[in-house]
Amino acid sequence: MLPNSNRARDLATIVHQQTELSGMRETGATLMTGGDGVYVFDEDGKRYLEGMAGMWSASLGFSEKRLAEAAYAQMQDLPYYHTFHSRGHLAAVDLAEKLLAMAPAGRPGNPLSKVLFHCSGSECNDTAIKLAWYVNNLRGRPEKKKIIGRQMGYHGCTIAAASLTGMPGMHREFDLPISDRFLHTSFPHWYRFHEEGESEEDFATRMAEDLETLILAEGPETVAAFFAEPVQGGGGALTPPRTYFEKIQAVLRKYDVLFIADEVICGFGRTGNPWGSDTYAIRPDMVSCGKALSASYQPISALMISEEIHQALLEQSARLGNFSMGFTFAAHPVACAVARRTLEIYEEDRVFEHAAEVSPAFLGALEGLMDHPLVGDVRGVGLIAGVELMADRARRVQFAPEAKVGTRVQERAMANGLLVRASGDRICFTPPLIITPSQVEEMAGLFRRTLDQTL
Ligand code: PLP
Repeated sequence: MLPNSNRARDLATIVHQQTELSGMRETGATLMTGGDGVYVFDEDGKRYLEGMAGMWSASLGFSEKRLAEAAYAQMQDLPYYHTFHSRGHLAAVDLAEKLLAMAPAGRPGNPLSKVLFHCSGSECNDTAIKLAWYVNNLRGRPEKKKIIGRQMGYHGCTIAAASLTGMPGMHREFDLPISDRFLHTSFPHWYRFHEEGESEEDFATRMAEDLETLILAEGPETVAAFFAEPVQGGGGALTPPRTYFEKIQAVLRKYDVLFIADEVICGFGRTGNPWGSDTYAIRPDMVSCGKALSASYQPISALMISEEIHQALLEQSARLGNFSMGFTFAAHPVACAVARRTLEIYEEDRVFEHAAEVSPAFLGALEGLMDHPLVGDVRGVGLIAGVELMADRARRVQFAPEAKVGTRVQERAMANGLLVRASGDRICFTPPLIITPSQVEEMAGLFRRTLDQTL
């Protein structure tokens, strides 16, 4: 690395996220300088097909000028305002109306009727936890506070969201989970964990039984809420086995436990429908979303809450006065304007329909890799897929973790001009929703070349 190069400047100043910090001292970071559709370019002009849409998020690719125009127009009108102290602004109202009009169906008779804007998915999940506690205090159930997530589930990086996250690495040495209110149940990775001859349906029954056993062991009167991503993203793009959410929801209803759908990755067309909740018939009490809400051109996220929860907030306010929470940048007008324009573009360009139409080509191209000796399983829905690398497919034997096969594949793919994400030895694909069938072919071709070189 040349002294005074951009890489050296980066290394001298920035602590990178989700990165082996000591490992990157030699090479530094790859700095991106531009984008064009599904591609991004680094400072040396090298082109990469963004197979992850950045952080599972840049749904409209990297050069959507209509979003830049929306941001500029809003900056000229009202560059900043907030929603504290009974004040607000129209950019937030316009976005909230549009978002709620397309919200997933809530529980029967209890629609998602209000929205709290934030700047990240983590903040939305933290607020959802706080609201579950706040509401149960109002209802005279101060002991009903435990929150259940799933092993390998990812919900963010703030203290509560990271506690809820089920990845050991997110807890180790950070003194998390912050309290014993955070619990984790088994996660539905059918391919890796099903017993010989166990169908997806039987496996789903077992997962629901695990959840029920946990709730009963803790005492249903102590369990407030269950969080799940419709497709577990950070865990490796894990689609749920058939009947999983139907059975999980039956358990939650039985014990009066809220279902909070974390749609931060799955929302906005990713699973071939507007919401992952649509794809898997989830009827949530709250929904967190972010990322593709603004195509990631601005940091904005939203927590949608049911009318029952909203009524409880009104009741609490009648008792306590102020609703004592809020963020300076929440509902930032520029972010709201960009998000609203994003939702319009989704409609005008039929982006969700396009994603659903490209999905068979996308999944088919990756499933075509099943003939490769390194590939154990390929599974996905819409424009999200996970390719599981295996030492021995026939006997379902994984590679030793020290071999870091997934990481090696991720790095080699990058050298080949393809950006993908390794979650252990599962390689995740979530390209921008605007990807074309020929770009899907290019993506699969680059990945096959990568696997050949890794053999
Ligand atoms: N929830 C899920 C399912 C996510 O994948 C993420 C981030 O990847 C988050 C929450 C956290 O979102 P953010 O990084 O915007 O805080």
